[in-house]
Amino acid sequence: MSLIVKKFGGSSVADNDKLRNVAQVVTQSHAAGHQVVVVVSAQGDTTDDLLEKAAGLNPGASRREMDMLLVCGEQMSASLLAIAIEKLGFPVISLTGWQAGMQTDSNHSAARIKKIDPERVRVELDRHNIVVIAGFQGINKFGDVTTIGRGGSDTTAVAFAASLNAELCQIYTDVDGVYTADPRVVSTAKKLNEISFDEMLELASLGAQVLASRSVEMAKRLRVNLEVLSSFRNVPGTIVKEVVKMENMQVSGVARDNNVARIALVGLRDMPGVAAKIFSLLAQAKINVDIILQSIGRHDTKDISFTIAKNYLDEARSLLEEHRESLAYESLVVSDQISKVSAVGAGMVNNPGVASRMFEALASAGINIQMISTSEIKVSVLIDLNDSDRAVQVIHQEFFG
Ligand code: ADP
Ligand code: ASP
Ligand code: MG
Repeated sequence: MSLIVKKFGGSSVADNDKLRNVAQVVTQSHAAGHQVVVVVSAQGDTTDDLLEKAAGLNPGASRREMDMLLVCGEQMSASLLAIAIEKLGFPVISLTGWQAGMQTDSNHSAARIKKIDPERVRVELDRHNIVVIAGFQGINKFGDVTTIGRGGSDTTAVAFAASLNAELCQIYTDVDGVYTADPRVVSTAKKLNEISFDEMLELASLGAQVLASRSVEMAKRLRVNLEVLSSFRNVPGTIVKEVVKMENMQVSGVARDNNVARIALVGLRDMPGVAAKIFSLLAQAKINVDIILQSIGRHDTKDISFTIAKNYLDEARSLLEEHRESLAYESLVVSDQISKVSAVGAGMVNNPGVASRMFEALASAGINIQMISTSEIKVSVLIDLNDSDRAVQVIHQEFFG
């Protein structure tokens, strides 16, 4: 008998038929003698719908009240799934995140997990219950509910798997594993039988939505056995683990992120301290900067462009406009019609040429590159949003045929 954590995403619990399907998957595992802990997301687009509803009332709602609202989505799924499992005659109990012992800091909407006290879950498992936990949520030291960031139910699942010392953490979703690119964008994408934590972390951070990047980072750090598989088809998924068989691949996947905006400060003074000033302003506002490009100075001026997540664009723009005088730039140009497309692969380290092949593929397709950023295991380019799908397709074609 082993303890298994199973997480089901929004599309897997979207309606009653899908909940019945999940109830079957879960109860089969319980009937096979396993202790089963289930983590669920909100149904379908519930989280987006709740965000929209609140924005209709007050676009500037406090993050505390937004958390109070959003946690309801996951709680609905948890209770509905428990109700579906009861119907099949199995012992089950659903718990909110805080009933299950998930403690976080107070950074509402992006709280960090501080600690899990799994006592209650253990007691329920000892009573032979299937335990269904509402994902994405916790409680802070003041007794207020918190959420842990979009896609956070993946992280909830990994955190419980670690704290309960589970044998396996299975992330069930609407595709049957991790592919070489988003199978909805590239029809010829191939399913990977396994992928290393490092490559998966890079793919997830670069926009491959299939796993939240924090969940991968946590699974690597806490040595959780992780599998991504389909809720609807009983076929083997993708195992994410420390070391994988070398298949001699330079590139293991292509990812893209459309949640990107670019800001350019044109005509800055070409002197020490200018970049420091800009980026410390942004850092103080907790705005993460991704790719940075500085042009070669001309006539004592230079331009600095950088990218941030789209949802921080308004805040960043206001901040920079507020400090226009002290930063002394001529103009500020922003664009949110851009996309970041990346090729990822641990095999790149010893194989120069990945970047040139990628640029060549984009050039042949007539796609213009606006910015480039590289690391040991990835090459990213910033391109026009309209070219995004085609860029993913031609880069995938270049490396995977
Ligand atoms: P869930 O609701 O189960 O959390 P998500 O929508 O968050 O599901 O993640 C699954 C989606 O991730 C898939 O439907 C697929 O379109 C997308 N995706 C992006 N990149 C990849 C990839 N490399 N492999 C598999 N799926 C991917
Ligand atoms: N419901 C949350 C979201 O849509 C958390 C999750 O699905 O993992 O981001
Ligand atoms: Mg998800």
